[in-house]
Amino acid sequence: MMTNDSPNSWDARAAAHSFYGFTDLPTVAERGTIVVTHGEGPYIVDTEGRRYLDANSGLWNMVAGFDHPGMIAAAQAQYARFPGYHAFFGRMSDQTVMLSEKLAEVSPFDNAKVFYTNSGSEANDSMVKMLWFLWASEGQPQRRKILTRVNAYHGVTAVSASMTGKPYNAVFGLPLDGFVHLSCPHYWRFGQEGESEAQFTQRMADELEATIAREGADTIAGFFAEPVMGAGGVIPPSEGYFQAIAPILRRHGIPLISDEVITGFGRTGNTWGCETYDFVPDAIISSKNLTAGFFPMGAVILGEALADRMQRAAEKIEEFPHGFTASGHPVGCAIALKAIDVVMNEGLADNVRRLTPRFEAGMARLAQHPHIGEWRGKGFMGALEAVADKATKTPFAGHLSVSERIANACTDQGLICRPLGQSIVLCPPFILTEAQMDEMFTKLETALDKVF
Ligand code: PLP
Repeated sequence: MMTNDSPNSWDARAAAHSFYGFTDLPTVAERGTIVVTHGEGPYIVDTEGRRYLDANSGLWNMVAGFDHPGMIAAAQAQYARFPGYHAFFGRMSDQTVMLSEKLAEVSPFDNAKVFYTNSGSEANDSMVKMLWFLWASEGQPQRRKILTRVNAYHGVTAVSASMTGKPYNAVFGLPLDGFVHLSCPHYWRFGQEGESEAQFTQRMADELEATIAREGADTIAGFFAEPVMGAGGVIPPSEGYFQAIAPILRRHGIPLISDEVITGFGRTGNTWGCETYDFVPDAIISSKNLTAGFFPMGAVILGEALADRMQRAAEKIEEFPHGFTASGHPVGCAIALKAIDVVMNEGLADNVRRLTPRFEAGMARLAQHPHIGEWRGKGFMGALEAVADKATKTPFAGHLSVSERIANACTDQGLICRPLGQSIVLCPPFILTEAQMDEMFTKLETALDKVF
C-alpha cells in the first residue's frame, strides 16, 4: 500500500491540501489515500491503475455504476441545452417541471409536490423548516420538537446532525435542543433476555407513546425514520415496527417522514423502503439514487395532505421563504429523470430483486464465521456484525475497530466495503452481475480469513 514517503505521490498531494471528513486519520497516515481517476461499471480505478470492486456503490448512490453511457449522455445533452438555473421567483426549468411530474407519478402519494435541494442533509433540514413553518402558520408555533431514533443517520447540517442519533455529534455540542431520540429498533442487539421480537416491537411502540405523553403531543412537529437504518449499520426494523408506530403518530397528528435517501429507488427491492415495510408516510426525503450519484441533489416529496397544508401556509404570507441557489438545477433534474428511467426500465430494479436471494445466501454463508454474530439487511443492502464472542454477542474492543481491519483487508483484495461500528456493510450497485457478486463474497471471505 502506498504511503506518504514520496512528496509527489498522489497520496502525499492529497494529504497536503485536503482536509478529510469522516476518515480515520491514523489509518490514512498508515495506509495512504486511494486517489481514484475513473470507474468502469461497478469498479473504481486508482492512479496506480488498480481496480477495486466498489461494494459501497460510491456512498450508496452509484447504483448504475460509474460509467453508464446513457447517464453520461443525458448529462452532456442537458449541459449543452441549458447548463444551470434555479426554481424560484416564478421561474423554473422545463426539466424541473418534468422531474416533479415523474416523482409525483412514482411516489406512493396521489398528488405529491416536490421541493428540491442539493443533498440529503439539506432535504431533511428543509423538511424540518417546512414542519416548523406549517405548525406556526396553523397557530401551533410550539410544535417544534423532532423525534428520531438512536443510530439514525439524517445528515450533517446542524439540524440534520441533530436528528442523527450518533454519539460523535457531541463533539459539535449537538444535538440542538428539541431533538428527541427514541430507541433503535434492532432486536438482535437490543432485545432483552427472554423477550420475543413481537414483545420488543411492542416495547418500541410503548416507548413512543410514553415519549409523546412526556413531551406533550402539542410540542412535537414530526417523526423521521429511515425504513432501514443505513449509516447506523444497515438495521432493518424489528418485525411489525412501522405498523406499531404509524397509528400512534397518526392518532397524535404527528407527521411521519420517511427518509429514503438510501432506500429510495429500488435499494430494498421496491421503489420505496416504505413499500417494502408496508407503511404510508406523510412525506419522503430523497437523494443519492435519485440521480444515481451523477449529480448532487435532494428532494422533499410531500404527500397530498402535507402539500395542501404547506401551500395554504405559504399563501398566507405569500411565500415559503427558503431554498438553495441550485434548487431544481436543470442538469440535476435531467440526470434524475434519466436515472429513474434507467433504474426502473433498464432492468436495474429487477436485477436487485433477481439477485437478492444470491446476496442473502452469500451473507448467510459468511455469517457462519465464528466471529460474525449476525447478518442483516434487505434487498441490496446488508451488514455483517463482527463479535469477539458469538454466544454472548460481545463486541471487539480497541481503537481500530475490527470492522476497519476487515475493510482494510478487503481493500488489499481489491474490494471496497464500508466499516460501520462493528459491522461491515455491503451495498453494491444495482448493475452487479452474478459473477461480480461472487467476486465480492470471495474477496470478503479472504479478508475475514486474513483478519482472524
Ligand atoms: N439521510 C440518509 C438516510 C442518509 O443515508 C444520508 C447520507 O448518507 C443523508 C440523509 C444525508 O445525505 P447527504 O450526505 O447527501 O447530505
